[in-house]
This record gives sequence, C-alpha cells and structure tokens, in this order.
Amino acid sequence: MPDQDCQLKVLITREEIKNTVAKLANEIKEDYRGKHPLLIGVLKGSFVFMADLIRQLDLPVEIDFIRLCSYGADMKSSGKVKVVQRLKTPVKGRDVLVIEDIVDTGLTLSFLLNYLRRKKPASLKVCALTDKPSRRKAPVSIEYLGFTLPDKFIVGYGLDLDQKFRNLPDICVFEDDESS
Ligand code: 5GP
Repeated sequence: MPDQDCQLKVLITREEIKNTVAKLANEIKEDYRGKHPLLIGVLKGSFVFMADLIRQLDLPVEIDFIRLCSYGADMKSSGKVKVVQRLKTPVKGRDVLVIEDIVDTGLTLSFLLNYLRRKKPASLKVCALTDKPSRRKAPVSIEYLGFTLPDKFIVGYGLDLDQKFRNLPDICVFEDDESS
C-alpha cells in the first residue's frame, strides 16, 4: 500500500475518462436497446463512475447499490467476502449490469456474480472502469471495460486510500509506489 504523503501523479486524465465513459455508454446503449436494465453499483468506489455513466445512457435504467467487504485473517487474499449493504431492488428476471470501479484479484466480483446468479436475473453482465489483470486470482469476465492497468495502486474518480482522494477528478498513482 503506498504512503499517502507521497506525491500524486496523474495516470488517466479526466478527458480520457470522459471519452472512455462515453464509449462504454454507447456500447451499453446498443446492447440494451428496448430493455430496462438494472444497474448495480458496488459501493463505495463506483459511485462517481456510475453517476457519469448513467447520464449518458438514454435508456430507462434503474439503479441500486450493494456494499461488500472482505474479511478473514488475511483481508486481501482470503477471498471471503460478505454483503454489508443489501440491494433494495428484486433481481429476479431483470437484465442486471454490475458497475465496478476496479477489478483486481477478481475475488469480490466473483463473489458478487455468484450471489446475483442465485437470484435468477434474466441476464448478468459487468461494466468495469479499470482492470488489473496481472493480479487476478478468480476468473471473471468483463463485458464492458474502460482501462487495463498495470499493477499500481490508483486513487481518484471515486477510488480511495483510507477514505481519501475519492474526489480527485483524474485517476492518479503515487510517485514512489514500488510497483509503479
Ligand atoms: P478485488 O481484489 O476483489 O478484485 O478488489 C477488491 C477491491 O479492492 C476493489 O473493489 C477496490 O475497492 C480495492 N482495490 C483494488 N485495487 C485497488 C486500487 O488500485 N486502488 C484502490 N483505491 N482500490 C483498489
């Protein structure tokens, strides 16, 4: 985990994010034309991305949020995930699109997809703004992907380090992040 006193540098600019969100929205609009999808944002990190994305979707979208957390002795790699804030919207028979800020090991998303599948949606897909495939532990498919990233810890545009930096408009990394 990087030291939060280090200098931040921009990895993905707000313009690049804006263009990519528009591209993702176009793909989603094409695929969901005539449907009434339920977009499920994974809290807290996806809220900024979700807010920008849905404003570019001229579809009758419905939204809900879920909050998950990892637990166990080794929080990062235990793969044990639990739901800490449930959905309010029934998923059965719905075209569900999960909105993620980042897929890292894939353990969180893999848990969520299994959890949602048990609720019998009509369809289930994933839209993730960023992906760090080199860190994958659980295989997951991402139908709509913004950016493929190297193994660096990112903050900004909704993503935090100890609850800070979510408000940065660009996606940033720490100057002396050893993995950078
Ligand atoms: P997973 O490893 O299960 O795919 O990802 C779990 C969670 O770790 C993500 O939803 C995100 O909250 C957090 N995470 C993983 N990589 C990063 C990163 O580079 N930056 C930030 N801020 N959070 C990350």
